[in-house]
Amino acid sequence: MRLWEQHCCLPLVQDAVIADVARYPLGSYVSVNVGFSPHSKDVATSLAQDFRRKALADGRFVMVDENPDDSLITLAFDLEDSGPLEGDLDNVRYFHDLGVRSMLPSYNWANAAGCGCLDAEDTGLTAYGKDLVAEMNRVGMLVDGSHCSIRTGLDLASTTARPMIYSHSNFAALWAHPRNITDEQARECARTGGVVGINGVGIFLGANGPEEGRRRVEAMADHIEYGVELLGIEHVGIGSDYSFDHEDFNAELAAHPEAFSEDYTRWGQLQWVPPEDTATLPSVLRGRGFDEPSIAAVYGGNFRRVSGATSE
Ligand SMILES: [Zn+2]
Repeated sequence: MRLWEQHCCLPLVQDAVIADVARYPLGSYVSVNVGFSPHSKDVATSLAQDFRRKALADGRFVMVDENPDDSLITLAFDLEDSGPLEGDLDNVRYFHDLGVRSMLPSYNWANAAGCGCLDAEDTGLTAYGKDLVAEMNRVGMLVDGSHCSIRTGLDLASTTARPMIYSHSNFAALWAHPRNITDEQARECARTGGVVGINGVGIFLGANGPEEGRRRVEAMADHIEYGVELLGIEHVGIGSDYSFDHEDFNAELAAHPEAFSEDYTRWGQLQWVPPEDTATLPSVLRGRGFDEPSIAAVYGGNFRRVSGATSE
C-alpha cells in the first residue's frame, strides 16, 4: 500500500536536509513546498533546484518528471501562494518544468489572485485568479484551495475544468478554525472530482498537546471518517503538512505573529503528526472497519487519480 503525501514542509533554506524526507516509506509519493507568499521567483527556483540536486544525489528519490520507480520515493514540489509567479502566467509552465505539480493561489491573506482564510473581507477569486486557474488546467498543475478564503475556494471549484484539491485541510464541522474548510467547500471540491487531504497539524485537529501524539493520529482518522461520510471514499486523501523543522516554523511564528493570527499563535508550540505516525494510518483505519480498497484509496489512490487527471 503506497502513501501519497500531498503536502509537507522542508525548511525553505538552502541547507535543508532532503534526506529527512526518506522518513516516509519507500514507494511513497511526497510533495514538499518550495515557496510561499514572501518568496520571489528566483528564491523558489533556487530552492527547487537545490532540493532536486540533493534528492538525486541521495539515491532514494526519483523526481516526479522522471521515469517512475516504485521502490523509491517520488518527490514533487508545490507552491503555497501564487506570489512566486510574480504576476506572469507563463511562470505556471516554468514552475511545472521545475517539478511543481500543485499550487494554492492565496496563502492566508488576499493577493492578486484571491482572498486568504484569515481575511476579514472575502471577495473571492479575482479575474487574474480565474486566468491563473485556466493556465494551471492547461499546463497540468493541480488547483489547490488550502489556505484560501471560503469564497475563493468555492470560486476555484466553479472555475476549474479539472479536479481541484484541498491539499491539507481539515473539516471545520469537527474543529472550528479558519484554516479548516466548510462542508460546502468540501462538497464543491468533490463535485469537480477532487480530493481533500487531511492534515496532521495539532491546532487544526484540536489535539495540540506535546504528549498527544497518538491522539493526533486518531484525530486524523476522525477527519478521514467524517470526509468519507460526507463526500464518499473517492474524495479523501492525506496531506499531513508535517514540518521537518518544527523549531524553524515555531520561531517564524514567534518572530512574525502578525503574518498569521491569534488562531495560530495562542496554542503554544505547534505539533505535527510525523511521517512514522502517518504510516500507521492504514492500521488505524483497519481498526475502524475500513476495507483494504478503501484504505488504499485514502492512503494514496485518490490523489494518484486526480494527479493523472491533470496531466496533459
Ligand atoms: Zn500550509
